[in-house]
Amino acid sequence: MPCLILKVVKDLIKQYLGSPKRKINAHSSRMKVREECMGDYLVRVITEEKNILGLACITTNLVDEARKRHRTYPTATAALGRALTGGELLGALLDSGQRIALKFTGNGPLKKIIVEAEGDGTVRGYVEVPNVDLPLRNGKFDVGGALGRKGFLAVTKDLRLKEPYNGLVKLYTGEIASDIAYYLTESEQIPSAVGLGVFVERDGSVTASGGFLIQSLPPADEVLIDGLANRIQDMPPVTSQLRDGKTPEDLLASVFEGIPYHTLETRQLSFRCLCSRSRVEQALITLGRKQMEEVMRDKEVFDISCHFCNRSYVFQRDHLMRLLNEMH
Ligand SMILES: [Zn+2]
Repeated sequence: MPCLILKVVKDLIKQYLGSPKRKINAHSSRMKVREECMGDYLVRVITEEKNILGLACITTNLVDEARKRHRTYPTATAALGRALTGGELLGALLDSGQRIALKFTGNGPLKKIIVEAEGDGTVRGYVEVPNVDLPLRNGKFDVGGALGRKGFLAVTKDLRLKEPYNGLVKLYTGEIASDIAYYLTESEQIPSAVGLGVFVERDGSVTASGGFLIQSLPPADEVLIDGLANRIQDMPPVTSQLRDGKTPEDLLASVFEGIPYHTLETRQLSFRCLCSRSRVEQALITLGRKQMEEVMRDKEVFDISCHFCNRSYVFQRDHLMRLLNEMH
């Protein structure tokens, strides 16, 4: 389990950092280890006037993990990475136990991007067609061309209330960041700016990924918002800032330069799916006896993959027969 390995590595690094001998000897290498050990994380800040909220995150590891799990081609990797990062930014606005799902549907070859983020910093997601790779457009990944510029973004929020909250907007550009900003501004009536970036190497791996979300809170300060909008427009792309070694804290510091703000939280982010063998069994049972018998007709072994994480669950026919009998 990559998460377990990550935890073990983190614990080891913590031990390493905690050793007084090493602390005295190797300041620079310690800093390097600290950067590596931080992994993916998100910072949430608010202005002292409490009228602007700012979030920024780095998601390189989780996006690369998603890329490996789903074997996405570069343009599909960029699209999925942007959507996962957007999901993490929106998830950070929820409380623990709450969940947000983003479903991008477009008329391009990628067809769909589905992302689910939890209020605890975990996210999962997939693209309908992972082997999409298009020529660069103006030197950037043509995510809009891959998803398609015509389609919809559907947002579902499970806030642990009676009914989930549903929002639907048309795709704005299909480039993900502007679609999320358009959704927030139009559907939730919260003026927002979103920047997302994923850098994919020649070998297909992801070496930089992250983004930011800036939201205006009521009462809106129009002058301040205009100033921030101009500043964000003039900023270098998120990808180049992250590749230059900038952190989420640095991104927020350049957006809020000259505006007093303080940090509300820093949280770890990771790719995590909620699937399990028993959940898949439950899903099979809910298919009902007739459909299960049909599925089992000519197969001895069943291999079922989770859409969200691509983990495969293998069931023997005998086991499924036993489940079927237990239903009655
Ligand atoms: Zn899964």
